[in-house]
Amino acid sequence: MAASTSQPTGLLIIGASQSGVQLAVSLRALGFEEPITLLGEENHRPYQRPALSKEWLQGEVGNESLIFRSNEYWAEHHVTLVKGERILRIANNRDGSGVAVAESGAEFPFKRLALTVGARARKLAVDGADLTGVVYLRNADDALALKALVGDATDVVVIGGGFIGLEAASSLKKMGKNVVVLEHGPRLVGRAVGEETADYFLEAHRARGLDIRLDARISRFIPESTPDGGKAVAAVELAAGEVLPAQIVLVGIGVIPNTELAEQMGLAVDNGIVVDAHALASDGSTVAVGDCANMPNPVPGSPAGERIRLESVNNAIEHAKVAAYSLMGRREEYAGIPWFWSNQADLKLQIAGLSMGFDQTVVRRDDERGKFSVLYYRGGRIIAADCVNAPLDFMAVKNALAKGQNIPADAAGDPTVQLKSLAG
Ligand code: NAP
Repeated sequence: MAASTSQPTGLLIIGASQSGVQLAVSLRALGFEEPITLLGEENHRPYQRPALSKEWLQGEVGNESLIFRSNEYWAEHHVTLVKGERILRIANNRDGSGVAVAESGAEFPFKRLALTVGARARKLAVDGADLTGVVYLRNADDALALKALVGDATDVVVIGGGFIGLEAASSLKKMGKNVVVLEHGPRLVGRAVGEETADYFLEAHRARGLDIRLDARISRFIPESTPDGGKAVAAVELAAGEVLPAQIVLVGIGVIPNTELAEQMGLAVDNGIVVDAHALASDGSTVAVGDCANMPNPVPGSPAGERIRLESVNNAIEHAKVAAYSLMGRREEYAGIPWFWSNQADLKLQIAGLSMGFDQTVVRRDDERGKFSVLYYRGGRIIAADCVNAPLDFMAVKNALAKGQNIPADAAGDPTVQLKSLAG
């Protein structure tokens, strides 16, 4: 469908989370003078998500501390914030302009478009998945729903042993709940870390009293009637027959990139919206940023043609900066090395680089100091590291990667040797 009627103006950013916010902020910092509309479907001011599974859930920080920027900031920087509008259709023209049409019927014309539409929680298809008490943790409304249930619950089953599952399980355990984590795979955090790190987390969480079941198969959620005539979850039944009591079932089994609008616009989509090294989609005008975008591997020296879709705060920020340059007519590439973090109880995981394609690992383990790192190599060169409570290892690898240096594998296994001293 081609757009025709409305006069297109300015930039429309669809998606008002980490990458959308960063894009607006970077554009104004670069001197972008056109109107910017930052539009989101949630009825909240743009907020930061990482604390939702940790400090916020535990009541250590309040709602206000999650808000990205004040209303005054947006007003001063001439960014129009639109909340609670879900875009259903985009009519785009060949020159990159068009009109986005919301579920409410409201129309948002644009000269340029940015898709910072993120990803949504993958839903669990199990008998009883729609019962009260079965929750997800992707956005603020999910988090509010979880928090409202926590007070009355004694038993929680967490489904999925990824970042969300392990962070939330650690928080809920600290809050005094009986927590069981059910992971369907043979190890934890399957997509994000290697086997050695996964084994370390399993051992460390179990040593801290978390009940984790691998290769878990769920047959159904068992309901009970509520005083208001509804149905709430009471237990989880495993295929092996065991029944685990649960007043809350928290599902964190991954995300699906929101590519529907891009598909409808005719943009190339393949596990995310396909973009070039400058965050430009296949029409050469629309930018797509963050969790929803499939981009060339940004690590210097990575094999030509290798592509990746990253789900992280750091990527949302760095990728948005690249897109901001593109919208200013400059062609800059991703700066810095992708990195990630996850805090689970006292286990602080930091990941530098991307381990895909590794052919060798080196483990550095210092149980006395509670430090653990795994270094990943491809063809004898370091490409990534998972570091638990080992910030110096993390910094050394991140800096070496940024400078194009190697940390020779044969010397790296001794935890008493500083990695920094080996880089060259
Ligand atoms: P995730 O990291 O993809 O982990 C999902 C886990 O659930 C995987 O271990 C997966 O195993 C498992 N799983 C899938 N289907 C299952 C099933 N039917 N039953 C039991 N387990 C199942 O996703 P997430 O933890 O849901 O997190 C969602 C997103 O938020 C991700 O993008 C994540 O990176 C992001 N996040 C990041 C942080 C951080 O960076 N600190 C913190 C929270 C969330 P398989 O891999 O074997 O399918």
